[in-house]
Amino acid sequence: MAKRTIQETRTLYQNGELSPQDVIAECMNVLALREPDVHAYVDVFSDLEKRAEEAQKTLEQKGGEAPLLTGIPIAMKGNILVNGERATASSKILENYIAPYDATVTARLRAAGAIFVGATNMDEFAMGSSTENSAFGPTKNPHDTSRVPGGSSGGSAAAVAMESALASLGTDTGGSVRGPASFCGLVGLKPTYGAVSRYGLMAMGSSLDQAGPLTHTVGDAELIFNVIRGKDQYDATSWDEGVYPEVSVKEMYRIGVPYAFLEGLAPDVRALFDAALAKLTADGHTIVDISLPYMKEGLAAYYIVMPAEVSSNLARFDGVRFGLHVSGDTLLDDYRKTRALGFGAEVKRRILLGTYVLSSGYYDAYYGTAERVRDRMREELAQNFENVDVIVTPTTPTPAWKFGEKADPLSMYLEDIYTVGANLTGVPAISIPAGTVTRDTVHLPIGIQAMAPHNGEKRLFDIAKRYRGE
Ligand code: GLN
Repeated sequence: MAKRTIQETRTLYQNGELSPQDVIAECMNVLALREPDVHAYVDVFSDLEKRAEEAQKTLEQKGGEAPLLTGIPIAMKGNILVNGERATASSKILENYIAPYDATVTARLRAAGAIFVGATNMDEFAMGSSTENSAFGPTKNPHDTSRVPGGSSGGSAAAVAMESALASLGTDTGGSVRGPASFCGLVGLKPTYGAVSRYGLMAMGSSLDQAGPLTHTVGDAELIFNVIRGKDQYDATSWDEGVYPEVSVKEMYRIGVPYAFLEGLAPDVRALFDAALAKLTADGHTIVDISLPYMKEGLAAYYIVMPAEVSSNLARFDGVRFGLHVSGDTLLDDYRKTRALGFGAEVKRRILLGTYVLSSGYYDAYYGTAERVRDRMREELAQNFENVDVIVTPTTPTPAWKFGEKADPLSMYLEDIYTVGANLTGVPAISIPAGTVTRDTVHLPIGIQAMAPHNGEKRLFDIAKRYRGE
């Protein structure tokens, strides 16, 4: 598919220079050529041509009044329910599970006219940073198929990067939209906690999860965000504008950079980051060195809070209510057998870890302490946002790695160092392409991240668009 923004596609549709059928034909062409190797999808939906025809009719009937996303192909992460389609979260335990309703984000995109291309591949139940933890096999990075696309929304990122969809939705619990955006050269947004409804998303860490867009441009991310955001009666943690104070856009920004937090970055990644800061300075913004000592502890806190919530959320997969059922001699035996067969190694590891940190003897030492660190992180950010407008860091400490390179779970967890803070504190964060670094003669994309105070998406879009020259 030709590289076009959603807005450009819409204009071409309106002028009759392009039709949804043309675009869907382009998608299917890419799918035929690249999908067998890249494996961005667990399922490509079967009704694409029919949907394109319907979209064409809507455009003919309604013209400029047609809903915003009429005929726009969007890929959906495999843990987001699309009514009537298989929703596996890339787990064997949900191999045959059909979504019985639309998630709120799905319903809102559908109402806006989007065509869903398929359910994308991911790390099982969103646990991972590389999409290697999928029960359906890994997704490859379209920029270099010997490397990972990032995770857990690696399929959603690859789907857009290989041009089989104009945009996709991912979910981000500790960086799963921003990491793949960084590795695949895309824009990825983790909205403010509660800006987007979690209804119909398979929960990983309920106090951390948010769905967000992966797109080629900041403008497209903004457009999708505005469609999916807002209060939803089915998610009590969702809210409407007005709940948080307005976060203004400014002529020039004071940009906080936690320099002490950047130690140990690969020299070329650091050089790229410094070049991005130099551009921001040249544009007239002011860089301020800030200190975020608690943010540094975020990774440790995240890998306690998240498994605690995982162990509780995944208790529902008991062989009775959803998906796979394996019969044993007793009910307990049913649970054991189903979960032993249905869950992969990483999911089991986190359930064990979570159960441990929540156990009565250790609750306060681990979970309690992690929650206290989280409070301090929130305070620390709030204080810093009195002095600076946004905080900028790399998104990921490295570009995409080769398959199997980070087989040791701890080394992979370290990749989330810059992203988990926004989830633990609830602030919005965006990753935008910052350039490429070279590994084995291949140019690999890598992103930079900006964080703003709660409800500060507008400010993030503003600075990101200006940086990108949109
Ligand atoms: N990579 C992180 C993890 O493995 C984040 C995952 C996510 O955001 N879903 O937990």
